[in-house]
Amino acid sequence: MGKALIIGCGGVASVAIHKCCQNSEVFEEICIASRTKSKCDALKEKLEGTTKTKIHTAKVDADKVDELIALINEFKPDVVLNLALPYQDLTIMDACLATKTHYVDTANYEPEDTAKFEYKWQWAYRDRFKEAGITALLGSGFDPGVTSVFSAYALKHEFDEINYIDILDCNGGDHGYPFATNFNPEINIREVSANGSYWEDGHWVETKPMEIKREYDFEGVGKKDMYLLHHEEIESLALNIPGIKRIRFFMTFGQSYLTHLKCLENVGMTSIEPIMYEGKEIIPLQFLKAVLPDPASLGPRTVGKTNIGCIFQGKKDGKDKTYYLYNICDHQECYKEVGSQAVSYTTGVPAMIGAMLVMNGTWQKPGVYNMEEFDPDPFMDALNKWGLPWKESHNPVLVD
Ligand code: NDP
Repeated sequence: MGKALIIGCGGVASVAIHKCCQNSEVFEEICIASRTKSKCDALKEKLEGTTKTKIHTAKVDADKVDELIALINEFKPDVVLNLALPYQDLTIMDACLATKTHYVDTANYEPEDTAKFEYKWQWAYRDRFKEAGITALLGSGFDPGVTSVFSAYALKHEFDEINYIDILDCNGGDHGYPFATNFNPEINIREVSANGSYWEDGHWVETKPMEIKREYDFEGVGKKDMYLLHHEEIESLALNIPGIKRIRFFMTFGQSYLTHLKCLENVGMTSIEPIMYEGKEIIPLQFLKAVLPDPASLGPRTVGKTNIGCIFQGKKDGKDKTYYLYNICDHQECYKEVGSQAVSYTTGVPAMIGAMLVMNGTWQKPGVYNMEEFDPDPFMDALNKWGLPWKESHNPVLVD
């Protein structure tokens, strides 16, 4: 079918690349490009001989538009799958525009010096992508991504109107470290140490970090404390789900994680303000990232399951209705299959699916779109096929 350029070679990219190689009818050729080319070469070496996909590697600094354009012109991919960090979203979108190449990512743009993620920077590209005749698919991970597709599916098949969505992200995995993050530590800590917020009656309601706490009994995991966070899919779902009254996002955290995080915050280690250290400017959070375990190294040690999904409340044929869509994923099963834990797996699989649907034309539409703006059915089928089967309940326990 075609060629994909994958930018980044970290935890999420590694899973997406394994999945592209399992799907070599669609991904005939891929190029893995990152700052550290040796990581791309190591992955290529591991996968070659196990797949029909032809694998190329390249070195690229995705902060530099001219380097990206040169690489795209040389490899001529049908789609660019951005699995680097949110800071690179706009430079990669600029390179896609210059070369008229489709674009897919998993996280919305965030300027490096302000921990504030929102879609306005990427939505500002809508007209230019439309004029160029190319598709940008934003947020093709699990949350955002699968949670957005779940919402579109619920609206299409189960409801006339959805009024409430609670997105529940539970990681019941245990890696045995007192403190480690399951994906890029810098991005993860910026997300969880920011103020929380949810959407209600047409506006944002802001909370202090971890101010709202609930307990939920997750299938496959058991009872867990979960905390309300701001999360990027709330912003687009608030626009795209007609009749919506409230959207909240909860994530589970263990007490050890929270105690360590509080301590690190109290001593200033999570700050993104530069400080001088022995004559050199450093950012405390980036230094912290360097001393924490690499998320990619957690795979062999992590046991337990994730359970991520959405609880919907709304109306069908004039009657009140509730509905829960979720996926349960086992850390060790993921490790056995692709050598990564479930947090990378649950993001990397939808990244491959999003790139596939754009590449094969199923989800092509010139412009910049969030996941819930496309027909959810092909994506839902692909989740079942490619390792993230979903479950449903018509009588879920609700979150108060
Ligand atoms: P990692 O830190 O493991 O990997 C990031 C990769 O990007 C590394 O290979 C890194 O290269 C590369 N990179 C960073 N900067 C540049 C640059 N300037 N040019 C080229 N390559 C660069 O992160 P994850 O795999 O954990 O996360 C990847 C993305 O997935 C993030 O944007 C994250 O927010 C998102 N994500 C989305 C989720 C969802 O459900 N939607 C869930 C989890 C993550 P090097 O090794 O050389 O530094």
